[in-house]
Amino acid sequence: MLLNEEKCNLYLDAMVRGIVWFRNDLRIHDNEAIIDAAKSCEEVLPVYIFDERIFKGYTKFGFRKAERHRVKFVLDSIKDLKTSLAKLGLNLYIRVGKPEEELYKLAQQVKSSWVFCNRERTQEEVTVQDNLEQSLWTIGQEIRYVRGKMLYHTADLPFPVTHTPDIFTNFRKEVEKFVGIRDPKPVPKEPLRPISVTLDFGNVPSLSDFNLAPEDQDSTVVEGGETAAIRQIDDFLWGTDNVKQYFETRNQLLGDQFSSRMSAYLSKGCISPKLIYQKLKQYEAERGENKSTYWLFFELMWRDFFRLMAKKHGNAIFKLSGIAEKQNINDDANWKFIEKWQCAKTGIPFVDANMKELKHTGFMSNRGRQNVASFFIKDLKQNWVIGAEYFESMLIDYDPCSNYGNWNYIAGVGCDPREERYFNIMTQAKKYDAQGEYVKHWLPQLVDLNSEEVHNPSDAASLGYVKPIVPFSIWN
Ligand SMILES: Cc1cc2nc3c(=O)[nH]c(=O)nc-3n(C[C@H](O)[C@H](O)[C@H](O)COP(=O)(O)OP(=O)(O)OC[C@H]3O[C@@H](n4cnc5c(N)ncnc54)[C@H](O)[C@@H]3O)c2cc1C
Repeated sequence: MLLNEEKCNLYLDAMVRGIVWFRNDLRIHDNEAIIDAAKSCEEVLPVYIFDERIFKGYTKFGFRKAERHRVKFVLDSIKDLKTSLAKLGLNLYIRVGKPEEELYKLAQQVKSSWVFCNRERTQEEVTVQDNLEQSLWTIGQEIRYVRGKMLYHTADLPFPVTHTPDIFTNFRKEVEKFVGIRDPKPVPKEPLRPISVTLDFGNVPSLSDFNLAPEDQDSTVVEGGETAAIRQIDDFLWGTDNVKQYFETRNQLLGDQFSSRMSAYLSKGCISPKLIYQKLKQYEAERGENKSTYWLFFELMWRDFFRLMAKKHGNAIFKLSGIAEKQNINDDANWKFIEKWQCAKTGIPFVDANMKELKHTGFMSNRGRQNVASFFIKDLKQNWVIGAEYFESMLIDYDPCSNYGNWNYIAGVGCDPREERYFNIMTQAKKYDAQGEYVKHWLPQLVDLNSEEVHNPSDAASLGYVKPIVPFSIWN
């Protein structure tokens, strides 16, 4: 049926309002949802819903879904987003609840036409978006999905998602030289038209709204938000030139200068990986490229790889049998051991120092993560899913694909070509913390020990440190 002009206008009149639902894309640069909404709608309403199941809920094994460091990071990010949106003429609508219910109520109230959002690909997020879509259909509205999480667009890849190589090196070789990376989309130049319906926009909640203690004054937790993300990458590149030695420094443990510290910003979408790539290329053009500058790109490819694995293998990444669907995987749970691991009381200094850093800051280096995960699975012989859930709870940079993907690898249920990836804690400690500086930083009771003893204290009790829960001899 052809529509006459009058009917067309009627349709257009009904299409003026779009809700932009921010999820893990807390930025205004390279944000397709804002751009699409601005193109298709006359009035735009940005929304963020603190999902009560995440901000107040618990994992299957009883950890808080999101501990306070990550919650604080998101609160910072929302405050920053609210300020940036205000500069675009928009007011951010904020609620705590179930996004599918809050958005449905709002869509009804403001008579919008579409909800624009980033499509998520892991189960909990998919369930939320599917449920929202189902309810929007009942009122003649729809979700319009956009993308923006990855460096590569899946449409540009030389294989369908279901044929993504399961081995990282094969994936990398098929993409890095042949597939271009698109430019990030710019921030809209003109202000957008805000919603004309009178609304209670709500306020940014505080930690206590989620029954979380306020952040320590001297906490070392990184500041969240798009502004901080851009400042951090500019500093890593142009400010300090740290990127130039990244290949050599990336396995360090102490301090915050040895790697880009982009992970938390990427996981909440405060920065687009395409913007990082664009800045990296600019840096290489101005100050030269080397193995280190390439390696930052290499690591970003790992991130894409794990996201593609999650798309390809679906829920398998969360299961004990992993994406390799291996049977008879150990599911033991000795909670005495698990609690000691969590509380940095295993008596193994290298493990405890890393676990203490995680508890205090919500961050742990990649080297540290590999070691404590291997220790949990291979030395303590515990169900890897419990360890992964604890990381999910604690990490500020928690990302379902990267977290569960990496745990799959270390548990030997991913598609790692090296079947038995085992980290000998003592060898690793002596190699990556040769002088024991990292251990001493987090475990000051060991400060007087020499570099040999600090990783293997013979009389822990007299120093006020705990006895080891496994004998050091297992690493001989
Ligand atoms: C058991 C385990 C769990 C992990 N869980 C997470 C997680 O939940 N979220 C997360 O972002 N990273 C996770 N990682 C990967 C990695 O440890 C962090 O991304 C990295 O330490 C963050 O520091 P950075 O931003 O300074 O990294 P850089 O070394 O500067 O790397 C740049 C970026 O590349 C990406 N990247 C680097 N290494 C990896 C990797 N192994 N897998 C996927 N992406 C990578 C990250 O986005 C990172 O920000 C995990 C690793 C292990 C071993």
